[in-house]
Formats: sequence, C-alpha cells, structure tokens
Amino acid sequence: MNAQGLRPLSPAYDPWDPFDTRLAEGEYRLTSVEFTVTTLCNLRCEHCAVGDTLTTRQAQALPLDLLLRRLDEVPTLTTLSITGGEPLLHRATVEDYVVPLLRYARQRGLRTQINTNLTLDPAVYEPILPYLDVLHISFNYTSADDFVAIAFDKAGHTVSPAHGRKLYEQLVSNIRDFAQRGVFVSAETILTERTAHKIGAIHRLIAELGCRRHEVHPLYPVDFARTMRLLSLDELRAAIHRLLDERVPSVWILFGTLPFFACSDNPDDLALIRRLHETPNVTVRNDPDGRNRLNVSIFTGDIIVTDFGDVGPLGNIRTDSLVEAFARWQEHPAGRRYRCFCPQSRCCGPNLLVAQSYYPDVDFTTRTGAPLADAASLPTR
Ligand code: SF4
Repeated sequence: MNAQGLRPLSPAYDPWDPFDTRLAEGEYRLTSVEFTVTTLCNLRCEHCAVGDTLTTRQAQALPLDLLLRRLDEVPTLTTLSITGGEPLLHRATVEDYVVPLLRYARQRGLRTQINTNLTLDPAVYEPILPYLDVLHISFNYTSADDFVAIAFDKAGHTVSPAHGRKLYEQLVSNIRDFAQRGVFVSAETILTERTAHKIGAIHRLIAELGCRRHEVHPLYPVDFARTMRLLSLDELRAAIHRLLDERVPSVWILFGTLPFFACSDNPDDLALIRRLHETPNVTVRNDPDGRNRLNVSIFTGDIIVTDFGDVGPLGNIRTDSLVEAFARWQEHPAGRRYRCFCPQSRCCGPNLLVAQSYYPDVDFTTRTGAPLADAASLPTR
C-alpha cells in the first residue's frame, strides 16, 4: 500500500482495465468516469482526438453538485479521470471543478488520472497533486523540433519556434521535477508515420526523464488526425517489436487500443501477442471505452462512450443517471459485432474505432482467441 493506504498501480494492478471486472462479474460494470472539463488548449497537436471541439473561450459548466450527485449514484466506481483540452489552463475551472472532483474521488478511494500536456507553469499543478494517482501526458518527441512540428501542426497560424522550444523546455523540466518528487508520470506516445520509426529513442528519453510508465497507442485517423495515414498492421507490428527490442526494462510499457487479437489466423499476430504477454513490465490494456467507462462533458452534460464521438450521446446527466446510460450502451446495436470476450486470451475484444479501422467486415462474436500460456493464473491478478 502507498502512503494513502491505496494499492500501488503496477502491471499487476491497472484498475482502468475492464478485464478483471468482466471476468469476476460475468458482465461489464461502470467502474470509470471521465470528465471533459475544458475545450481550451494552448497546443493544437496533429493527432488530437478532440481537436475539432477545441475553442478559445471556456463555456458555462453545469453545477458541480449535479456532477457529484451523478457520481454518488454509481456504486461500482473505482476510477475517475479528468481530460480536456488542457484541464489546467483555466484557473477558475481548476478551482471550481478539477480540484473538487479529484478531492471527491480521493475521499471515496477512487483512483485518479488527469490528462495534461504539462507545458504550464509548475505551480499550476500543485493543487491537484495530493489527490492524483496518474499524471498522464503526451510525449511524441525526441527533440524540441519534433515538439514544435507536432504540437502546433493544427494551430492555423505560424507559431514562433522560440515559443515552441520554450514550451518544450517547460515540459521536460516539469516531467523531471514531478518524477523526482515521486509523482507517477505516465507518458503516452501515439504510433504514427512520424513516431513509429523512432519509438525506441522516444521511449529512452521518456525513461531518462523519470516517467514511471510509457503508454503506447496506434493512431486512429479521426478528428484533427483525419488526414493522417492509418499505419498498416505490418508497420504497427514492426514498431512494437522495435520498442520491445530497445526498451528500458524498468519502465512499465502499457499498450492500448492495439489492433491485434488472439483470434487472428496470422501467426505474426499470435507471436506478437505472446511476446507482449511474456515480457516483464509490459501490459496490454483492454480498452475501457464501452466496457467500463463513460465520458461526461461538464458543459453540455452529454454522456458518451468514447472520446471519438462517432456514436451519439447515450444520455445527459441533467436527466439520466450514468448507470442508465451505461446500460443503454450495453444494448446499443453499434457494438454488437464486437461484444466478444475470451478469458483464456485475456481479451475483451476491439473497441468500435479499432474494429472499424482494421476489421470492418469481421463479426468478432464468431471467433475464439488462442489461450495465453498462463491462462490458469488469470483470475488471480
Ligand atoms: S475477445 Fe474477441 S477479439 Fe479478443 S480474442 Fe476473443 S474473439 Fe478475438
């Protein structure tokens, strides 16, 4: 247990992964809620999954009491996440929503995460640290030049390289400082044409800066990224093997939204899955979206199943409980072909975006995953 009496997050304990609940309960439960608390951001990254919703003015949010009441109604909750935009950019929102939500979560024993680009003044982050488990950042760079190219790709105007470099230096300095103070910094890299060939170098820099975890996801070309190229399965497989070859063993690597499944008839997929499973300090998280997590906008109150938004709102917290909205998703026709579950493969199936991107014609409910070597020990995690 850590100083607050909570089990440390580790490859053996990732409460955002829906697998263990599904295995134990025989069905999915709503264990995770994510709040979108701002549509402001000081960056305009090329891969941003919410880019089209970014604005330059903070809208009026719903009352905090309503948000907390809706959380109170979910007895199965174990994690709470805060996302944006950049959630720390708007001071009043930090004081009136971000800190109270995180404090509520901590008092309830929930595990917490905030998604930030970490380029702001370090003092901005101090009020959230007492209540935070995971400081989740984006890191797709090996240099300041990479940062400038990626983080302002969609700015729509010229950003001075000096300004970009200053933000990168702030980011690097913040990572080092927070990591040294024991904050669990988890750096996420998106595998794209730009990053896939140098994923090993990005990883080593992340390790050198002191991040505890490196989270790696393929790019899915939606929103700002809609003009970017979806990497082929061969390219993704090669990038993942490259990262495993070059990794720093002390850093936990968490892969998410991977398009590789144990029901594949491609031996290369199965070899990769085996390697991922057998490599110490490496995990593949089953995607929370649609399995155990809902996202709520604090402005509109809309309840959605993913950041990617290609399924309309499942309800609104002004009129619906989160439990009702979650039940609606479990019956939603959009996910029907992907409601597979193979405990012997530790797999909850693809999410909608992964399936639509790589397997548009596959009915996963007709498939069965190959067992992993130590399937018998799965429930003990
Ligand atoms: S759970 Fe679905 S995607 Fe995973 S191995 Fe089984 S059939 Fe394939």
